[in-house]
Amino acid sequence: MKTHFHPCSDADTERAPCGTWLGETSHTTGDWSHVTCGHCLRNKDRIKSAQAADEKVIVEQMGAMVDHMSSNQTPNGERAYQRLLDE
Ligand SMILES: [Zn+2]
Repeated sequence: MKTHFHPCSDADTERAPCGTWLGETSHTTGDWSHVTCGHCLRNKDRIKSAQAADEKVIVEQMGAMVDHMSSNQTPNGERAYQRLLDE
């Protein structure tokens, strides 16, 4: 019985990030210190960087959203300020 690295406990997932098909005898964990699967451990860096890339995309998407929101707000804010100066 092997324990594969798998950060999300998604019951529908049939395959571990190392490429092994998960059976009833396979365990998954999000904690590297509990991983016993050789494939997972050998691919640790790759799996980790893939995970980091996912997180980076999420952060970039959030950043883009914040940029979008602030670019929408700034012109109005400037106009309001300009109106104050005109009056
Ligand atoms: Zn594995």
